[in-house]
Amino acid sequence: MNQNLKTFLSPFMYGKEIPSVAIAGPCSAETEEQTLATAQALAKIGIPVFRAGIWKPRTRPGCFEGVGAIGLKWLRRVKAETGIAVATEVATGLHAKMALRHGIDIIWIGARTTANPFALNEIAEILKEYPETPVMIKNPVGPDIDAWTGAFERLRRAGIHRLAAVHRGFSHFSPSPYRNNPEWSVAFELRRRHPDLPLIVDPSHIAGKRELVGPMAQVALDLGFDGLMIESHICPDCAWSDKQQQLTPDQLADLCAKLKIREDDAPSRELDILRDHIDLIDNSLIDLLRQRMEAAENIGVYKRHHEMPVLQEGRYRDLMEKRIAQSTALGLSETFMRRLFQTIHAESVRLQLLNDNECDGVQS
Ligand code: PEP
Ligand code: MN
Repeated sequence: MNQNLKTFLSPFMYGKEIPSVAIAGPCSAETEEQTLATAQALAKIGIPVFRAGIWKPRTRPGCFEGVGAIGLKWLRRVKAETGIAVATEVATGLHAKMALRHGIDIIWIGARTTANPFALNEIAEILKEYPETPVMIKNPVGPDIDAWTGAFERLRRAGIHRLAAVHRGFSHFSPSPYRNNPEWSVAFELRRRHPDLPLIVDPSHIAGKRELVGPMAQVALDLGFDGLMIESHICPDCAWSDKQQQLTPDQLADLCAKLKIREDDAPSRELDILRDHIDLIDNSLIDLLRQRMEAAENIGVYKRHHEMPVLQEGRYRDLMEKRIAQSTALGLSETFMRRLFQTIHAESVRLQLLNDNECDGVQS
């Protein structure tokens, strides 16, 4: 468990250990009964923070858009009756003002708001009055690392320092088994830029399907992320939003029991040796790529002298087919190798065009 998540949640933990599933609750608070019953069941299984959306920004019109401010009273009852901290999403300054006045412990900025600087400024303005509020910022709908990073910078400039990131995956156009593709590299890049931010994963919104939530949660822990936020509803099939991805509190307890936590020990001697090996291989790869690009540039010079076009469709298709066949025969993944060779080829073409243009520049 990352020390930064401990600091982020410390006001609510009273010295207790933070479980991997640190935050759980329904997608939406629908009725007082559903909210209370879900919270009581989650408190029983040791969830320290209860989440429930009351203002729901929906992608398409006509869907349930949340109960609104009345839900704040229900969340207050949750806090009073179960003792667990409560979190909700805010998308405007007014939401933030109402939530904080009603004693909401943690607020989160949803995916559709993270890339909206005007909304963020409004929320930041309200937060100036409550600078100790823990705020979680979900990644934006598309994999825009600068928008995600920018949202943190905006709040930090307003003096808000208790911040955490929530990775909930990214929208996609091509078919995918997931509602939102995980694209873990974007979360890793956020971690590289902001190593101090706790990074929580929301496998519910990534998976989109109940049966994929557990495996996705395990992947998140295996990758070393700090904690999980999972949607849970007392009766998922009756839920008014995101019914396919919610788990009952019993199913969530089962998931928690099955999660394997890898020890975060200092790297061993054996691991050091394995890593040295990888470093050597990477050095060779880099040198080979340099040689390949030089060869591509030489071909570019030849094409220019013979007034041949840079891109030759037949050669490209032939090259791809051969490389993929060689790779798959060696047990390498076809998808990976196809992507790799597409990238390598695109870079060769870029270099050849660059040299073409540079020559044009000299001539003119
Ligand atoms: C949610 O957490 O219920 C939600 C709306 O998530 P997101 O902003 O990630 O879509
Ligand atoms: Mn949801």
